[in-house]
This record gives sequence, C-alpha cells and structure tokens, in this order.
Amino acid sequence: MPDAHTKTLGLVGDPVEHSLSPLLHRLLIEALGLNCCYHAFRVQSRDLPAAVAGLRALGVMGVNVTIPHKEAIVPLLDAVAPEARALGAVNVVVNDGGRLVGANTDVVGISRALRRHGVSLEGKEAVVLGAGGAARAAVWAMAQEGARRIYVHARSAAKGEELVRGLTSSGLSAPVRALPWETRALDRSLARADVVVNATPVGMWPRHDESPLPPGLLCPGVVVFDLVYNPLRTPLVREAEKTGAHAIVGLDMFIFQGVEAMALWTGRRPTEEEELWPRLRARLSEELASYA
Ligand code: NAP
Repeated sequence: MPDAHTKTLGLVGDPVEHSLSPLLHRLLIEALGLNCCYHAFRVQSRDLPAAVAGLRALGVMGVNVTIPHKEAIVPLLDAVAPEARALGAVNVVVNDGGRLVGANTDVVGISRALRRHGVSLEGKEAVVLGAGGAARAAVWAMAQEGARRIYVHARSAAKGEELVRGLTSSGLSAPVRALPWETRALDRSLARADVVVNATPVGMWPRHDESPLPPGLLCPGVVVFDLVYNPLRTPLVREAEKTGAHAIVGLDMFIFQGVEAMALWTGRRPTEEEELWPRLRARLSEELASYA
C-alpha cells in the first residue's frame, strides 16, 4: 500500500494504454521490495513541457519515455547522458535531486539480450532493418559489441543516410552503410549477415501477420533479432525458427531495458535476476497472449 514515503515512477507517452511497462515495473518493484508505484501518464505532445515541469515539481523519481516523446523531451531536460545524446533519443528520465537527467537503456537492452543468448558480434556483419529510434539503438549496440560492419536497410534513403551521418559524427565505433529497401539489396546483405535486427514495426499488432522480409531470404545459422515484442512470436521469428536460424524475441530486450531503467532510478537491480527472469518472461508473455 502506498504511504507518505512512496516514490512515484511512471511512463510518459501517447498512447500508453497498451504498454507492458507498468506490469514489468510492478513485478520489479515487488521483486526488489521497493516502496514505489508506477503510473502510465498519457501526455499529448503540446503538454510535454508542462508534464516535464510537473515531474520536477512533484518530485517524481523517474519515468520511462515512449512514442512520440523520445526525441522531443531532450531539450526539456537538465542533462542528457552521452549515449542518449549520441542517439538523439531518451527513453528514461532520472530525477537526480531536482535535476532531470535523460538516458537511453535501449542500447544496453539490446546488448544484454544478445549476450544472454550467447551471441557475440565480435568481427561479425550485422543488418538492421529500419532507420528510426530503435534502429539507431540497434546500430549503436552492434558497434559496441564489436561488429565489423553494419548495413542499414531503410525504405527512405534520406532517413538511412541521416542515421549513418548522425551516428558516425557521434563517434560510432564501426562502419555503417545505408542500403535501399529492395529485395535484391536485402538478399545480398542477408546472404553474408551473421545477425539481422528488425527495427521496423512490421509484424507488430495489428500488423501481426506481416513480415518485413520477403520469404526465403533468411539463411540457417543467422541470428534474427526482432525488436517487436507484441506479439511475442512475430511472423519473422517464426520464419527464422523454421529456417534453422537463432531467433531472439523483442520481449528479451524489453525486459532488459526495464531492468536497467529501474537500476538508474533506484540503484537496485535484482540480484536473483537469473531466477527472476523466467518469471518476468512468463508473466509478460501471458499478458501479451491476452491481447491477441
Ligand atoms: P520509429 O522511430 O517510428 O521507426 C520505425 C522505422 O521503421 C522507420 O525507419 C520506418 O520508416 C520503418 N518502417 C515502418 N514501416 C515500414 C515498412 N512497412 N517497411 C519498411 N520500413 C518500415 O519506431 P521505433 O521507435 O524505432 O520502433 C520500431 C519498432 O521497435 C517498434 O515495433 C517498437 O515497438 C520496437 N521497439 C521495441 C523495443 C523493445 O524493448 N523490444 C524498444 C523500442 C522499440 P519511415 O521512417 O520511412 O516511416
């Protein structure tokens, strides 16, 4: 039960009603025995400055930030961590004694999911589909994990080039190249890729019967990481499994980015994470299944 010492955490986005973050954070709060509560705040774009001022005034401990505010919130904060600055996107705000500091836990979420699956990027080639915020986090994570080369396929050539320019000028540690969204170009990159990341919303509810790739392009042995987490197993994940590829679902990234956000807010990370993990995964999967 909340009392006069209860700290507030939350999510700022629009819409927020179908977000899994409140459930994930409630489970983490329980597991860590914290006196915190987590609310989903639906904030329209025009109200974002007032909402940020409200977080400061009310002493909210921290929030997650989701679509459409991840970029727009950057100039409203007192400081932004280097990685979030490089990506131009904040998915976590920490209230550090009245100073609102932006961070990005999507990169570490991707890296930790890859490591948990025993996937090393050292010297490997990676393909990223899409050129939005999640694609930028994926490219940054792949480079940090030691990828030799990264190819970004974007349906908008301008956005692909902008991603390459932006991340390269922020000091990305691997060469990245933008390529067109065409079957021939995709086929060529996928034939040599070790890891493929879907950072488009294709396959996400309500387009849950679509795949971002034409059938037959995946090779056995490739790692396919679909960042989409609703549904749990997308058509791309199912095709990867059928092909003999190693599939990683977006829920794995989602859980890690949440665990890392909690650590930034409270300094606490579940020590029994290995045991907690299957419980989180099972409970969140059950929730996703209920959306279907
Ligand atoms: P975003 O900023 O809107 O970017 C989406 C990208 O996908 C854009 O480059 C967009 O191209 C491209 N795209 C959209 N529809 C496409 C289509 N039919 N064919 C080819 N490209 C298409 O979105 P985001 O924030 O990066 O999120 C992308 C996905 O990642 C979402 O499904 C989101 O739920 C997921 N995600 C998951 C996690 C997690 O924890 N698992 C975290 C973050 C995001 P245009 O720019 O041309 O529209």
